[in-house]
Amino acid sequence: MDLQIKGKWALVCGASRGLGLGCAEALVREGVHVLIVARREAVLAEAAQALRALESAQVLACAADITTEAGRAQVFALRKDFDIVVTNAGGPPSGNFRDWGREDWIRAVEANMLTPIELIKATVDGMAARGFGRIINITSGAVKSPIEALGLSNGARSGLTGFVAGLARSGIAAQGVTVNNLLPGAFDTDRLQSLFATTAGKTSQTVDAVAAQRRKSIPAQRFGQPQEFGAACAFLCSPLAGYITGQNILVDGGAFGGTF
Ligand code: NAD
Repeated sequence: MDLQIKGKWALVCGASRGLGLGCAEALVREGVHVLIVARREAVLAEAAQALRALESAQVLACAADITTEAGRAQVFALRKDFDIVVTNAGGPPSGNFRDWGREDWIRAVEANMLTPIELIKATVDGMAARGFGRIINITSGAVKSPIEALGLSNGARSGLTGFVAGLARSGIAAQGVTVNNLLPGAFDTDRLQSLFATTAGKTSQTVDAVAAQRRKSIPAQRFGQPQEFGAACAFLCSPLAGYITGQNILVDGGAFGGTF
């Protein structure tokens, strides 16, 4: 299927590996030009090189911390206008809320709520003026079904979800701009491995045992691959998905147990 997005420009954050890279790959395969962002220059340069090998699309890379104002200024100095924005950054640490102070909460809210809102603010009016825009926020299945140890994530991302619900239904909806959240379940990325390692450390199990237990809890009986996540993202970025907005779409192998 031709997703009809060849030649568009996308900003993809947290894209040196994992789900962000999966989204960038899927977009580049459709001929979308991308500006990818992550903090570590060497890892990012490697990812950019791999993306350039896929298609003739342009690939710009910006080594920056997207959760800071200075980092975002670096990004927008390279390019201001985007047709597609994929917001993403590392998830907050797991733990017990009794151990978290104000600074922990501020960091989580900065990264997983305020940063996406700032990125949207910087790009959405240009999209609306040009009559086409796609904003995809990578959030988490934890927004629909909270994970106890990920309280920082449950809280901060729910704030973003509430904001997006209102924004998506505002005037921009009639100007060709859609805003949706993609909610990953368990995907085979470094983030998942590090969460397993933390759980293993706390429960005296092996990492393999923790992983096997989680895998068994998923109807698909496996972890997702970043490419599968990227495919969902690319579809939402297509004009073919123009009537889908303000949605929270789970990509979780059936893990969420609700009827709706
Ligand atoms: P990951 O840790 O594998 O990759 C994160 C990417 O973001 C990397 O490229 C990293 O360099 C980049 N990054 C992190 N902090 C950044 C910052 N401040 N500025 C710029 N770049 C930054 O994570 P992932 O598994 O791809 O997950 C992506 C998001 O989805 C995270 O927020 C995570 O919490 C969430 N999530 C993941 C899963 C999963 O199973 N993998 C499940 C639910 C939610």
